[in-house]
Amino acid sequence: MTAPLTHRHKPRLRGLITATVVGLLLLAGQRSGHARPPRLPDLNGVPRPAFTGTEIVAALEDFVARFPLRQAMLPNNDAAAQFLAGEAKDLGYDTRILEFDTEGTVPRTVKVVEALKRGTRKPNEWIVFLAHYDIANATFTGITHEGAYDNGSGANLLRFYARAFSKLDTRRSIAIVWPGDEDTTGFVSTAAYAKALRERGQKVSAVLGFDMVGIGYPAPYCICIYWGQSFGRVAVPIIDHVNFEYLGLPKGEATPAWPLGTEGNVCECGPARGDYGEGQFALNGYPTIRWHGMSDPGAYPFWHTPMDTVEGMELVAGSRANLEDGMLNTFLSGYYTAIALDRR
Ligand SMILES: [Zn+2]
Repeated sequence: MTAPLTHRHKPRLRGLITATVVGLLLLAGQRSGHARPPRLPDLNGVPRPAFTGTEIVAALEDFVARFPLRQAMLPNNDAAAQFLAGEAKDLGYDTRILEFDTEGTVPRTVKVVEALKRGTRKPNEWIVFLAHYDIANATFTGITHEGAYDNGSGANLLRFYARAFSKLDTRRSIAIVWPGDEDTTGFVSTAAYAKALRERGQKVSAVLGFDMVGIGYPAPYCICIYWGQSFGRVAVPIIDHVNFEYLGLPKGEATPAWPLGTEGNVCECGPARGDYGEGQFALNGYPTIRWHGMSDPGAYPFWHTPMDTVEGMELVAGSRANLEDGMLNTFLSGYYTAIALDRR
């Protein structure tokens, strides 16, 4: 029988080839110096949370119905903070409602809800999920009542990240952060919080920001991803790996404003513009990535209007199913990005 002999030789030959290839790769790696891209983990073994888009959107509907008028200085701003903090605490997070005194024309105190889960190997390094829970003041179109898309959508998604990471150990610590005055008077609580982290030297691997999310693929608009100016070298290979190689979502360009969208996709939309949300962390030198459903706030027709409701979001997404699926795709995109960042 000659077959077994052949088989016995094959592994040795394969081993020799592997060793040569590995050696060449190591040499190539040394030559390329610092230009090495981030290590991309195999995500196949990572448990996928069992949430559905239907559950996430139902929870959003419930959240904005229970806490309308979440503007800073109105009673529901504090009630929503207590609710988010209580839920995170029940999940086992070390949870605090921080207060910051801000200066400016009207000196006052602003809130930030912070929920922390300690990492197993690098607990002093944080991966931050960020979404403001307050809503914009009255504008010329009337009082923003529910603020379902801006930013009930992001605030609610963080409740699901809290649930997912309560069941999954990470090397770095997970921080779920809900600023309470981002839109009411303009970035003040996010700015104060980011500055406080910098001043005490807090290490942060990345801040993942969610502001107006869920209207995107399969709805005919982009799940648009932006990154901090200097973070592209790390962020882009991870965004590619997670969204296109692993999740198999379609890659595309920034889409036009409603109602002109024709084909949904995930867009690597480039370096972030503006200093809202996680942009306040970028100003303090931290690496950031932002998810936005539709290319910019103005693409959503009910932005800062009384029609910013879940029904309004459905209308723009084209259907309830589109909204649910887009919300889940956004959730998974952020979830696996955090894990890829943690394992690099
Ligand atoms: Zn917002």
